[in-house]
Amino acid sequence: MMVLYVDTKTENKNVPTTYSRTNPFRASVLNNRNLNGAGSSKETRHIELSLKGSGLSYGPGDCLGILPENDPALVDAVLEEMKWDPNEAITINKQGETLTLKKALLTHFEITLLNKKIVQQAAAFSDSETLQSLVHPENVDELKNYLEGRDFLDLLREFGPWKATAQELLGLLRKMPPRLYSIASSMNAHPDEVHLTIGAVRYTAHGRDRKGVCSVQCAERTEVGDRLPVFIQKNKHFHLPDSPETDIIMVGPGTGIAPFRSFIEERVATGATGRSWLFFGDQHAASDFLYEDELTAYQEAGSLTKVDAAFSRDTEQKVYVQHKMLENSKELYEWLKNGAYFYVCGDKQYMAKDVHETLITIVEKEGKMSREDAEAYVTAMQKEDKRYLRDVY
Ligand SMILES: Cc1cc2nc3c(=O)[nH]c(=O)nc-3n(C[C@H](O)[C@H](O)[C@H](O)COP(=O)(O)OP(=O)(O)OC[C@H]3O[C@@H](n4cnc5c(N)ncnc54)[C@H](O)[C@@H]3O)c2cc1C
Repeated sequence: MMVLYVDTKTENKNVPTTYSRTNPFRASVLNNRNLNGAGSSKETRHIELSLKGSGLSYGPGDCLGILPENDPALVDAVLEEMKWDPNEAITINKQGETLTLKKALLTHFEITLLNKKIVQQAAAFSDSETLQSLVHPENVDELKNYLEGRDFLDLLREFGPWKATAQELLGLLRKMPPRLYSIASSMNAHPDEVHLTIGAVRYTAHGRDRKGVCSVQCAERTEVGDRLPVFIQKNKHFHLPDSPETDIIMVGPGTGIAPFRSFIEERVATGATGRSWLFFGDQHAASDFLYEDELTAYQEAGSLTKVDAAFSRDTEQKVYVQHKMLENSKELYEWLKNGAYFYVCGDKQYMAKDVHETLITIVEKEGKMSREDAEAYVTAMQKEDKRYLRDVY
């Protein structure tokens, strides 16, 4: 592979870089704070990282990849359960690279999620009748249920004793995949920095508290001055309009607000004249209105035209972003007719689908169209005009 030079004296933009997914940059943490207030049931971290000297650059809409580490407490529990020697050398790949067992569990393998293959292959190392039955082809549904909310430690605890070495059991595991986060800053506003908005994933399953690997590492074990291995993931399908005069409508509840903070910062930094309208949503106005102060300041300065926020737990009837869209249907349709770009970021499973249906309903109602024509209008926005863009996960 050709090695490109990194010029740290020039601006990051357009400077060739050697940093990538396979060769991440170790970015130091400049700031890490909780955006949620007292009484919130959520924890959303605003994290600022330094890209100084990396040569890395990004645009609004791009993502940052982080290579996370497992929770040391969970790794210790695995070592304790198996009475393994943490210093044993473990081969981690086909190239024969080795790490100590502890380091391999901390940094190399995904130990928080199971899949069918792992459990099926583990069955070769155990005489457990329950495990043999679980992997029987007839019990595929049972196996699927078993995987839900369980991890490597559950497997080791439930189906031992194991007739396998640490090397053989770790060999069943996947390499830890990086986690992607929508970038929440504009490089024009913060040269040499990248900001993220990360929701801590915590849940209880099968009697044990579980923690998302990367989000909880960022929430609980990442301090100012620490370094995180990162890379830029370009997102060519999610970007600002070419023209700074084009209006933008942004629907980003929860952590979905992240790329829109980047969009707003970029449009302010570059003096864009197009109008901008943000729909935000979360549980409680008092504790969960992420970046409220910044958004208010942008609105007061006239650089953010409108903000409509929906809070689902403040009223008896739950209010979501799509309800706010409907309340404003006439104006929203006028913006669309005027050529506005329509963006959605955040929850894929429910929110993005509800917003999509609501968009069609608005076009149907305000454009006085049949349902089919409204669907065709929205499809054209997405496919032909490429002004209905989504970044959902
Ligand atoms: C393009 C893109 C952009 C993204 N942008 C952002 C962003 O800006 N901010 C942000 O916070 N996230 C974002 N994400 C999500 C992010 O990448 C991670 O998926 C998220 O932070 C969780 O990672 P984790 O390592 O903390 O959790 P993991 O260790 O990966 O655990 C999450 C997994 O745990 C399981 N799980 C979760 N809850 C439960 C439950 N109640 N019961 C059983 N199992 C459960 C699920 O299998 C889930 O996939 C984005 C994702 C993509 C693909």
